[in-house]
Amino acid sequence: MGIHLSTSVAALPGIGATSAKDLHELDIRTVRDLLWYFPFRYDDFSVVKPIGSLRHDETVTVTGKIRAIDSRPSKSKRMVIVEAIVEDETGTAKVIWFNQAYLMKTLQPGQEISLAGRVDNRFVKTLVNPVWEPAGAHVHTGRLVPVYGLTGSLTPRRLRQAMQAALTAVDECGEWIPESVRREGGFPDLPVALASVHFPDSKPELERAVERLKFDELFLHQLMFADVRRERTIRSARSIPIDVEFLKAFTSALPFPLTDAQRRAAWEVVQDTQMPHPMNRLLQGDVGSGKTAVAAIAIAHAMRTDARTAYLAPTEILAIQQHEALNAFCRPQGLLPVALLTGTLSKLEDKDVPRRELLEAIQEGRIGCLVGTHALLEDRAQLDHLALVVVDEQHRFGVEQRRALLDREPAPHLLSMTATPIPRSLALTIYGDLELSILNQMPAGRKPVTTKLVFPKELPTLWKTVEAELKQGRQAYVVCPLIDPSDKLGARSVTDVAGSLKFGVGIRKGILHGKLKPDEKAAVIDGFREGKIDILVSTTVVEVGVNVPNATIMVIMNAERFGLSQLHQLRGRVGRSDLASTCYLVPEAWSPNAKERLMAMTRTNDGFELAELDLKLRGAGNVFGSAQSGFPDFKLATPADVPLMKTARDFSARILEADPDLEAHPVLRQKVKEAVERVHLE
Ligand code: ADP
Ligand code: MG
Repeated sequence: MGIHLSTSVAALPGIGATSAKDLHELDIRTVRDLLWYFPFRYDDFSVVKPIGSLRHDETVTVTGKIRAIDSRPSKSKRMVIVEAIVEDETGTAKVIWFNQAYLMKTLQPGQEISLAGRVDNRFVKTLVNPVWEPAGAHVHTGRLVPVYGLTGSLTPRRLRQAMQAALTAVDECGEWIPESVRREGGFPDLPVALASVHFPDSKPELERAVERLKFDELFLHQLMFADVRRERTIRSARSIPIDVEFLKAFTSALPFPLTDAQRRAAWEVVQDTQMPHPMNRLLQGDVGSGKTAVAAIAIAHAMRTDARTAYLAPTEILAIQQHEALNAFCRPQGLLPVALLTGTLSKLEDKDVPRRELLEAIQEGRIGCLVGTHALLEDRAQLDHLALVVVDEQHRFGVEQRRALLDREPAPHLLSMTATPIPRSLALTIYGDLELSILNQMPAGRKPVTTKLVFPKELPTLWKTVEAELKQGRQAYVVCPLIDPSDKLGARSVTDVAGSLKFGVGIRKGILHGKLKPDEKAAVIDGFREGKIDILVSTTVVEVGVNVPNATIMVIMNAERFGLSQLHQLRGRVGRSDLASTCYLVPEAWSPNAKERLMAMTRTNDGFELAELDLKLRGAGNVFGSAQSGFPDFKLATPADVPLMKTARDFSARILEADPDLEAHPVLRQKVKEAVERVHLE
């Protein structure tokens, strides 16, 4: 029986019943799945040398004959050491393996083998724990050797052996990228790229293979937008007619004049919601740019038509706060009430009501806007009949949660909001032609937050400065990485810091962290908002969205532990009014990397600039944190692949322009159809 793409992995050499199960854990069932399981790195064993010329500490492959092999217990008797002498025409070397007693059975004197590993020349020329294989096999030694993620009983050897066998079916992988694109882009054919990504003959060959496979992901992603676009025009949504008089009245009743950016964004949103097809718009604006007001306009404008709406927040604290804000904006307009529903709280306007009563009111359509956390998504029925859903800090929601939301007929208009400053070109590429509104302007009168570094020995002076500010009637946050003291060297905790702060009479402290019960949390945050708490010692639960304009001081303990984007978010809790604000960063450790990041914080208030630097310093994975970011779940491509994304976009645009429904490209069309189905199945 030959090996085909659809052959089960259990039929591959090296894969028994247990390993097959382990592979299933990794979602690998067939040869095809296995071929798309890419190495996460390569061991470079490509330097092949005669034994006579081995130098200390180099990583090499040698080929020779086993002259002798024996085993002995280690000094501690806890492991077995296998030792061999290997020779070629140029010399002999010792080989040691730890804990691989079975080698005594597999290897015999006289056998020709290849060995790859590190050389230790200090006493005797020795290869330490090398990988081995029969001379000339060229799978585990003498080349760039792929290293795969493993689980259970899988071993690097077995997986490589299975992969070698799987590659005999690689020619069955049909090419799906049009020849013109391959030629113009200089991409290798798919079977070639797959063979090279697993067993590359050289680094340049590997680079070309990886580029081709990344291109596959990005190109398909771009083509799928065409499908989404088509689907969107097929699916229906409730059309909300624009009422300019209402919009004028509502905005002029707001406690502030809108910025031009807010006005533009709100107008884009109401134009979208007038369409009989679901809106899918991302509102992107730096912390403090006033996204809530834009959402409030859209919500009120929909509510006036009796359409029902929902506002989803990533945390309970935010849900409570945004409910208050929306209620304050909408109530004077005589619209249907704004309600709050979280795991533990149920409020109608500003009154607590029994949960059952609120659910009944929702059922009967008496609630204009329902504010809650993503817990709302669990009961799908509650979200039926919604005409507009606003998702705050959208990157905190899973892709499936968002999909669950839109997967109804008629679909709601969706407004996603984010403060994650993805550069525009990148956003368009990631999100395809999802509509994008950007608040690139801060409300008038804002004073930029001053950011200062404070070293631990200067803390007593800092606390005096803070106390003086509190006595002026201002408020302060102190953020710590931990809740309780721990052995973690040099990390401050909320409990520690709150306990150590000694201020004069009349200064009221509060503490806030994730372990408090929801009503305790609500009481603290209310106390802080109402000015009954002067200084709030907290974990990063205040990171997102908390809005207390009277707070003018942010102290971040162990600032070196936070990423730039997170520091920027935290800093965004102050500077929310026309009062001058200061952010104090207190580093406990001072590595070159920490220094570069924290100095950048003192230099700029620009979230985009910081995000780019963060990307450079920490890598895309950390900044966008795959699942949370809305960055698609590619195996190889990352947000750093901007040039390749542009290439993919240009090629797909060119094809789609000439052939919007891909009728002249049946292979592409089929591929897109399968990909879309896969997304829906997930
Ligand atoms: P974010 O974009 O971070 O969600 P918010 O919507 O919470 O920002 O707004 C931050 C603060 O700015 C709030 O206190 C809000 O009332 C205020 N604000 C919003 N828009 C304006 C404006 N145009 N002029 C003055 N203040 C505004
Ligand atoms: Mg917000």
